[in-house]
Amino acid sequence: MNWISVQLDFRKIFIGDLSFDFAAEIMIRTLLMFSMVLLVLRLTGKKGVRQLSIFEVAIIIAMGSAAGDPMFTQDASIFVSLIVFAAIIILYRLITFWASKSEQFEKVIEGEPLYVIEEGRFTLLDDHSHTFAKDEFFAEMRQASIEHLGQIKTAILETNGNISFYYYTDDEVRYGLPVQPKVYGKKSVQIPLPGMYACTYCGRTEKLEKGPAHCPSCKKNEWVTAINPVRIT
Ligand SMILES: [Zn+2]
Repeated sequence: MNWISVQLDFRKIFIGDLSFDFAAEIMIRTLLMFSMVLLVLRLTGKKGVRQLSIFEVAIIIAMGSAAGDPMFTQDASIFVSLIVFAAIIILYRLITFWASKSEQFEKVIEGEPLYVIEEGRFTLLDDHSHTFAKDEFFAEMRQASIEHLGQIKTAILETNGNISFYYYTDDEVRYGLPVQPKVYGKKSVQIPLPGMYACTYCGRTEKLEKGPAHCPSCKKNEWVTAINPVRIT
């Protein structure tokens, strides 16, 4: 078959068998479903959706099809969606109730907060059971005006994806791994001059001499010049 012979039926793609009557019906269906989605979301008791936990994302996905299909599918009845919504709310309420009763259950459903940085170094990396996107984390640090890891005493990755930072006071700030791309990007396996360097993998800082060096903590060998400015807020 020649590709030129493929004819696209644009009328079918864009209009299909849509009639004027059904177009008007879609307006009403959308209005109804939209109001129902708003109501359901209000009933979950959430104030906003800046960050969602995995459990809440699951709820949204479950609602998505039940909410969207009746808007434009002629034979999808709104009552069926109503049953789905009711089931989702009951499930949501039950799960949040159990989670408030059992810490173990809450951990399974929501995950648990993870220590990412302790005393200016990445600690989560030692634990291979977690997938952890370091570049995303660097972006978070930059948004909190953090210049290097030596400013951070502790960082905790919360279950909703937010990160809580606890800072060193100005006189506690130590040398640390820089997080700005231009500075972090200057990593090298050869130490050019004696001085303070930070391991680009785990953030451990060491006083190093010229030449190659391995990190005593993570055994990696890429280094970048460590910096120690205090935090400006
Ligand atoms: Zn290291």
